[in-house]
Amino acid sequence: MQIYLIPLDFENEEMLDRLAISLKQIFKTSINYLPIEINLQNGWSQERSQLNSTWLLSQFLQKAPRDNSKILGVTVYDLFTPILTFLFGEAEFKGRAAVFSTYRFQDEIYGLPANQEKLESRLLKEAIHELGHTFGLHHCRNFNCVMHSSTYIEEFDFKSETFCENCTSVFEAIRNK
Ligand SMILES: [Zn+2]
Ligand SMILES: [Zn+2]
Repeated sequence: MQIYLIPLDFENEEMLDRLAISLKQIFKTSINYLPIEINLQNGWSQERSQLNSTWLLSQFLQKAPRDNSKILGVTVYDLFTPILTFLFGEAEFKGRAAVFSTYRFQDEIYGLPANQEKLESRLLKEAIHELGHTFGLHHCRNFNCVMHSSTYIEEFDFKSETFCENCTSVFEAIRNK
């Protein structure tokens, strides 16, 4: 098992490398960049100025090697689905593909000064959360758990960068199966 990382117009390589290192430690697996070509125009909504995240997941599944790896896309564009006005990220439950956007994790869009440390912590939380779903972890009621579902950034910031005790044991059980 490995995790493929797909940057989609995400140009801060150093930031991505730091994320990859953290994910490697948490999921105890290798993380590799997957250079695949996706024409983002095809999933872009002109009227919403957002990218369709469900469409992205299907692109990953079509274009990534067919093995048992997980696939995590990272994009700078705001994401939507036909039923949700925006989302931080989306994942295939107990599947392979996940994606998240850095867009709503930037303090600048809330009229605050940029905060790099906060941004990277949020990206890590979201990456863990979406990958957690691909491993079969559900949303967790524990507000501090990284698997807690958050709609707003204030709620999001309340959770930690780790699985709670319960989610940790569920995750270990899935992994060791
Ligand atoms: Zn979730
Ligand atoms: Zn939990």
